[in-house]
Amino acid sequence: MKTIKFAATAATMVVLAAFVSPAAIAQSKFITIGTGGQTGVYYVVGGSICRLVNRGTGDHGIKCTHTTGGSVANLNGIRAGDLDMGVAQSDWQYHAYNGTAPDKFPDGAFRQLRAVFSVHPEPFTVVARTDSGIRKFADLKGKRVNVGNPGSGQRGTMEVVMEKLGWTMGDFKLASELKSAEQSQALCDNKIDAIVFTVGHPNGSIKEATTSCDARLVEVDGRVIRKLARDNDYYAMTSIPGGMYRGTRKDTTTFGVGATFVSSTATDADTVYQIVKAVFDNFRRFKKLHPAFANLEPELMIKNNLSAPLHEGAVRYYKEKGWM
Ligand code: GLU
Repeated sequence: MKTIKFAATAATMVVLAAFVSPAAIAQSKFITIGTGGQTGVYYVVGGSICRLVNRGTGDHGIKCTHTTGGSVANLNGIRAGDLDMGVAQSDWQYHAYNGTAPDKFPDGAFRQLRAVFSVHPEPFTVVARTDSGIRKFADLKGKRVNVGNPGSGQRGTMEVVMEKLGWTMGDFKLASELKSAEQSQALCDNKIDAIVFTVGHPNGSIKEATTSCDARLVEVDGRVIRKLARDNDYYAMTSIPGGMYRGTRKDTTTFGVGATFVSSTATDADTVYQIVKAVFDNFRRFKKLHPAFANLEPELMIKNNLSAPLHEGAVRYYKEKGWM
C-alpha cells in the first residue's frame, strides 16, 4: 500500500511540476499582435509570425496570439498597451509617430512607437461590379461604396483621397462601413457597387470579389493622386498585375503604401529580438506562408517604409546578422 501510495504521489508531483512549476509560470510571456480581417494579408502576417514564434515557446517562453482590427486600431492598441506589436500601413505609421493625423490619433505624436520591419507592398485597391458602370475612380460618386470600417487602414487612406478630391461621404449614394472580411460578399450580393481595400496581392478578399460575381479592378490615377504620391514618402504610384484576378486582364494603375510591422518601447528588447529571430531564422518558411511575401528581402525590409526608429531588440538581431 505504502509503495503504491508513494508512487502515485510522486507521479502526481511530476505532473503538477510540469504544469504549474513557478519557474515555468515566470518564464511564460503572452504577446498579442494586431492584424487585419481574416481574408486579408495582415491576418496571415500575424498568424505566420505567431506560428514561427510558438514553435520555439519551449525555448524562449513566448506565446503569441493575434487580433483583427486594422492599421489605425493596431497603432492605437499598441499605444494603449492592449497590443504588444502590430501590422500597420506605412502612411499610418508615419502619422502615428509624428502626430500628423489627430482625427485618428487624438493623443498626439506617439514617440514611443518603434518600427520592427516592413513587409509587403499594399496597393490602394478598388473593385467594382461590372454592371455598376464604374470604370475609373471618379465614377464612384453617386454609387454605393464600402469605405471600410473605422480603424482600418483603407478607411483612413480613403478619407485622405476624398479630402484631396474635395469629396464628402454625402457624395456617395451609400457609404457602408463593412469590415474587409465582409465586403466581397456584400459586393456579390449587390448590396454595394464597389469596395476599397489597401492590401497585398494576391489575397483572398479580392479573389472572392472577382470569382463569386462579375467584378473588375478600377484604376486610381490622375493629377491629384499623382501629386499625393509625389508629395509623401509613404505613398508611391504602383500597379496591380493584369491577369491576377478574373475580369482584369491589364495592369491596374493605382498608388500604394507598404505594410510594416511595429511595436513600442513598452515591449522589451528581448521579446522583440526573439520574434524577429523567429521570422528571419526561418525566413524561407515565412515567405512560403503567403504569395504576397514572395518578393520580400531582409535587407530591404529593415529600411524601406519605416518612419519610426527601429526597436532596439530588432537592431540587436540585425547587427548580429551584419545587416546593419
Ligand atoms: N491595410 C489594411 C489595414 O490597414 C489591412 C490589409 C490586410 O488585412 O491585409 O487595415
